Amino acid sequence: MQVKNSIYFYPFISSMENNCNTVLIDGPEKILIDPGHKHLWPKLRRQIVDDGINPADIKLVLHTHCHPDHMEAGQVLEADYGATQAMSPQEKEFYDGPGLQFYSWMGLDLPGGNIGRVVEEGKLDLGDKVLELYLTPGHTPGSLCIHWPEEGLLVTGDLIFATSYGRTDFVGGSQSIITDSISKMSTLEGVEFLLPGHGPAIMGTSRVSRNFQYVLGILSE
Ligand SMILES: [Zn+2]
Repeated sequence: MQVKNSIYFYPFISSMENNCNTVLIDGPEKILIDPGHKHLWPKLRRQIVDDGINPADIKLVLHTHCHPDHMEAGQVLEADYGATQAMSPQEKEFYDGPGLQFYSWMGLDLPGGNIGRVVEEGKLDLGDKVLELYLTPGHTPGSLCIHWPEEGLLVTGDLIFATSYGRTDFVGGSQSIITDSISKMSTLEGVEFLLPGHGPAIMGTSRVSRNFQYVLGILSE
């Protein structure tokens, strides 16, 4: 589903269709954020094709974090299309250590493929556009948010949802650290589209800022 210009949002439909929300940013360098579970990739692929985009043109798969329900299909895009998988260096370190345990906990095979690129907090230049990456730990140690200031887009992974926030009771999680990260992201101005890793999109700058305040209120109780 096209949100705006080159922004496509594939929200959760059912556990048979997809698991997490996925975002695709179109352009000369197409970027897919959080491709979801491997076994559900054919369903997501169909939606992308239906939107007139050739999945083989996706060259960068950016993982907000290393939980399998968000990143497992990255290896398929790497194998089938030569896409590069990327995450923050802090998340890669976690993924190479305790983060990998999520696969066995969820009864999944260990992932194939490689994290071919690490992306630091700061600018991510895609040629025709520059995204801003923010390191927002708390759900995992190296979680990322992706901000596209010109389009008012913020992709938050499992940092913040509509009226809720990402679990902090998994290994690598921290309630005080996620509070700091949410607080940091709440200061961004002009966010019109907050696309979280699960649940509905939050549309409109006033709704986005009210949601940040509401969630920070819960965290301060
Ligand atoms: Zn997660």
